[in-house]
Amino acid sequence: MRGIRGEGNIHISTGNLVHKAVSNIVTSFVERDEEPDFETWWGREASDCIGLGAHDTSQTIHEGIKRFIWDIWRQTGSQCKSALLARRSAQPYATERDVHASALPFLVEHKIDGSLLGLSDILSVDCFDYLHDIIFDLKYLKLGSIPELWRRLHCAGYAVTLESVYEIPVDVGCIVYISQVRGELMISRDLFFIGDDIRGWWLEERDKKLEIIAQKKDPGLPKRCYDSCLYIRYCLGDQK
Ligand code: SF4
Repeated sequence: MRGIRGEGNIHISTGNLVHKAVSNIVTSFVERDEEPDFETWWGREASDCIGLGAHDTSQTIHEGIKRFIWDIWRQTGSQCKSALLARRSAQPYATERDVHASALPFLVEHKIDGSLLGLSDILSVDCFDYLHDIIFDLKYLKLGSIPELWRRLHCAGYAVTLESVYEIPVDVGCIVYISQVRGELMISRDLFFIGDDIRGWWLEERDKKLEIIAQKKDPGLPKRCYDSCLYIRYCLGDQK
């Protein structure tokens, strides 16, 4: 999309808020053992995210997203609190640092250099559990979407990047799908082994993309376009 600016939409905005909410609350517990005030956070983040290029941010939709994000916030906060309490009660002589590092062993929005593999030098991994060596990738699934196998490629890419930088094996990926079904928060997980098959598939895809960039090739049209794509209105011819 040479020279064309992508346009935000409600799906992208909601996905951004999901990521920001989870990373904010987990980081607050990891660093300070405290739950930040949701309303203050929402007041700051929602104005940044909701409505950016969106065409359908009515008050009802806005309230629906707020409720959805609040449910995620509340559940993530409860799980963090519970993990810290469980760890403290199991090891009352542990230092606070020890409790935090082992109850919540997460590097959240971890910045990593992928240039050794021909990728960007500022990749951001949603979450890496360094005690269990699991890469987590958070996905917001809008109503009607289904988890697809290719989404595992993101985890595989992060795994090989972490391996290239830290020289440790990372063989397990987990995609956490977050969606809203009939107004209720739904969370499902796709836990999988990052074996030779998916590594080979990831390498093939990476090589194809590097070739497109290096040779300035036209990538052609995909088999399927998603209505959350930043360019959908342009491609459908609504926008000049
Ligand atoms: S709408 Fe389809 S063709 Fe257009 S940029 Fe998005 S994925 Fe590509």
